[in-house]
Amino acid sequence: MARNTGSVCRMCRREGTKLFLKGEKCFSQKCAVAKRPTPPGQHGQARQRKMSEYGMQLREKQKARRAYGLLENQFRLTHNKALKMKGVSGENLLQLLERRLDNVVYRSGLANSRPQSRQLVNHGHFLVNGKKVDVSSYIVDEGDVVSVRDASKTSELFKAAREGSARILPKWLSVNAEELKATVSALPERTDIDFALQENMIIEFYSR
Ligand code: SF4
Repeated sequence: MARNTGSVCRMCRREGTKLFLKGEKCFSQKCAVAKRPTPPGQHGQARQRKMSEYGMQLREKQKARRAYGLLENQFRLTHNKALKMKGVSGENLLQLLERRLDNVVYRSGLANSRPQSRQLVNHGHFLVNGKKVDVSSYIVDEGDVVSVRDASKTSELFKAAREGSARILPKWLSVNAEELKATVSALPERTDIDFALQENMIIEFYSR
């Protein structure tokens, strides 16, 4: 499946915010957004003109899509699913994105970044409620237990996770780092999203 193979740091600079796609580097002084907070390209600095409403909606959509690592078609399908759910569509969309298995693995500290967690899931390192799941878009539910399969537990891939994540873990996940296990103790709420996003603009973008 086609994915962006260019510099992921360029995407953060384009969206003007950290999307946390590079693991530990994102929290260091080497972060490209911290070093050069302007859009990429030769005229990045000069390109600071006022944006249209459509432009702002597009940027919010791109920011969310890139942070969670979805292709346009996958993102649109998630949006369509959010519209059919009860409640506020924008919040439903964010909840569906947070409940993706690759995101749960990342947010639990079992992977360094969302791109890494997607790869680990696709390579079959994870179980959900004791059964192997290698689909990164799998949506977890309240009470689900996500764990590293026994054969992978001693792998170097999970060395940092075994030592415990320095990141602040969301309150809707209860993590046992020693056992490389996370339990979905509640469904994520709007306040659990860890970066600035105006989800109403994404809904407006697709309603055009
Ligand atoms: Fe690169 Fe991470 Fe900084 Fe984004 S947040 S610019 S991915 S280092």
